[in-house]
Amino acid sequence: MTEELDQIQIKNLEVFGKHGVFQEENKLGQKFLINAAVYTHTREAGLKDDLTKSIHYGEMAHFMTDFMINHTYQLIETVAEQMARALLLAFPAMEKITLEICKPWAPVGLPMETVSVKITRGWHCAYVAVGSNLGDRGAYIRKGVEALGENQDCIVEKESQIIVTKPYGGVEQPDFLNGMLKIRTLLSPMELLDLLHQVEQGAHRERKIHWGPRTLDLDIIFYDDWIVDEKRLQIPHPDMQNREFVLKPLAELAPYYRHPLSGKTVEEMLLALKK
Ligand code: ATP
Ligand code: CA
Ligand code: CA
Repeated sequence: MTEELDQIQIKNLEVFGKHGVFQEENKLGQKFLINAAVYTHTREAGLKDDLTKSIHYGEMAHFMTDFMINHTYQLIETVAEQMARALLLAFPAMEKITLEICKPWAPVGLPMETVSVKITRGWHCAYVAVGSNLGDRGAYIRKGVEALGENQDCIVEKESQIIVTKPYGGVEQPDFLNGMLKIRTLLSPMELLDLLHQVEQGAHRERKIHWGPRTLDLDIIFYDDWIVDEKRLQIPHPDMQNREFVLKPLAELAPYYRHPLSGKTVEEMLLALKK
């Protein structure tokens, strides 16, 4: 069973803001209402009666109010998106937030109580495999990890040891350095893939031969327990269970993580491969 998170809720926080598609809206402004359900762990704060172990709802309400006043967006979709991100970055104990921006005076010209946009955003856990077998392999990996960490929406939480491995897939080429990263991210799987490609390009990666030599290769192995099957992206990585150079560093970080399709743990997959 996975653990349920606790919630702190703010209901109908009233803020005067200038968001809208019409010029009058940006000039005159109007009333907005904000609802938020913040997902976090309150048990320690609850047991110790200690606010520093929780998220201060007063600070949060002020943060939301300031955000509404200090930005002007056309869409309440954007207000919700940007405010959710800002809150998740400002309050690290927040795992997830459901945020609703209501616009009761939206200029629609019809009797309507309110209109709102409601979104849920949060941190995700991804495992990213790193590999290099061209040039200064260690430096390419180190710089790649740094470049990922420079993205605000991406925190490199853990790094495995870097191991030396023999090339895979039958192409004659130098040995690889391989490792695994545990990443905490606000990016969607596709956005994370785009970031990984950018970082690979920063390492002057060229795609010439499939499975050929490369300065830097970054593959998404897991993203929470999600299953993605798109043309550009498959998660979990479809060949991970057949690769010791993926499973070994992954087992160092997450031996009991389960493959969402096969149900096997990383340790079990590694053992099966060695046999
Ligand atoms: P392999 O994925 O078998 O290890 P590779 O890493 O050598 O092969 P690349 O040339 O680096 O292959 O990537 C080819 C394409 O694979 C990428 O452009 C990307 O769109 C796609 N892809 C699909 N699933 C993933 C994933 N989980 N992580 C990274 N890229 C993926
Ligand atoms: Ca790869
Ligand atoms: Ca790749």
